[in-house]
Amino acid sequence: MSYRPEKRIYLCLAHMSGKEQGYINEAFDTNWVVPLGPNVNAFEESLREYVGCGEVVALSSGTASLHLALKCLGIGPGDEVIVQSFTFCASSNPVIYLGATPVFVDSEEDTWNMDPVLLEEAIKDRKMKTGKYPKAIIPVALYGMPPKMNEIMAIAEKYEIPVVEDAAEAMGSKYDGKQVGTFGEYGVLSFNGNKMITTSGGGALICPDVKIKQRVMFYATQAREAFPYYQHTEIGYNYRMSNICAGIGRGQMTVLDDHVAHHRKVQELYEELLQGVKGVNVHKQPEGGLFDSNYWLVSITLDPKIKVKGQYEVADKAHLPGEPNVNVEALRLYLDRANVESRSAWKPMHMQPVNAQYPVYVNGVSEMLFKRGLCLPAGPYVTADDVRYIVENIKEAIS
Ligand SMILES: *Cc1c(COP(=O)(O)O)cnc(C)c1O
Repeated sequence: MSYRPEKRIYLCLAHMSGKEQGYINEAFDTNWVVPLGPNVNAFEESLREYVGCGEVVALSSGTASLHLALKCLGIGPGDEVIVQSFTFCASSNPVIYLGATPVFVDSEEDTWNMDPVLLEEAIKDRKMKTGKYPKAIIPVALYGMPPKMNEIMAIAEKYEIPVVEDAAEAMGSKYDGKQVGTFGEYGVLSFNGNKMITTSGGGALICPDVKIKQRVMFYATQAREAFPYYQHTEIGYNYRMSNICAGIGRGQMTVLDDHVAHHRKVQELYEELLQGVKGVNVHKQPEGGLFDSNYWLVSITLDPKIKVKGQYEVADKAHLPGEPNVNVEALRLYLDRANVESRSAWKPMHMQPVNAQYPVYVNGVSEMLFKRGLCLPAGPYVTADDVRYIVENIKEAIS
């Protein structure tokens, strides 16, 4: 292999359009250096146009957005909320912030997202065991892949349970022609540094109408009532997006489509180059035209039987039930030495020590994916040569 990248190849680095600085300067020049202002309003408007329905509130993070969605649904102590287990902790932590109980539901093999069959079983079983239905369902579009929203929404409607979509990784992904995050009552976006677009840190809540938007903003600004002095009858939060961050967001909106197109092209190239490599499977969207993933991160699974160079060195520490398979960890280290960042698939929430006490409905899929899965670089700075270089290294490592 003759090509060697000059710099380390990361999973997904922030990439600026060049317009961000102009909006930030405008905020400075007009002294809108506060958590509200013209950039916030304009960013919200352009997000609303992009998602194509409902209203959007810009907030300080994706986690805060999820927290306020659950708050507006009235969730609190004694309530249960169904959460996809195969995800990042930010999907379930807000349930716990509110004193409610997360109920973890496993994934299906094709999308890696919430299994609709298991979801319905869990709903019925919770009703039987507690006498109440769960108060919300949180499916996650993991690595950008849409969950089976038609099936999930049908179940949610049957039992009249509101859906909060965690679309933090899925900005630009569509399902059945519609933006992911616009199927449920609420949809959550994240603009953290490594997501599809960034505001350095930030998030947004897609909500159904202006009235609910105002409710979200009320909770996001310390639940201040309409009095000339500070009057509070409820507990709120300080979750509004800064006008500086929103300036970055306005600039980022001009490159969002390019980012999405880039991630899809990178996915296609990995699929092509890894085709026929024994024991390595690229995670792809199901066929049939419903799915249109943004492919935020490209993810692969390794057959447990394939041997990766150096795997005996990691065998000692990586053979335990709560660890990825040895060949996955060995490949991660091999790539790391080649100056390529890769990352194990999310460790399911039901396997996290901190969540040990919560109810779970599992089928083994997320645990299997955690043990076999590895995420590969796909961000705006990853070139076609980089992808070829990464694939060459994977082939070398397993030869
Ligand atoms: C990033 C992420 C979040 C949280 O977003 P922040 O903006 O980092 O708070 C939530 N859910 C998933 C699945 C994520 O990847």
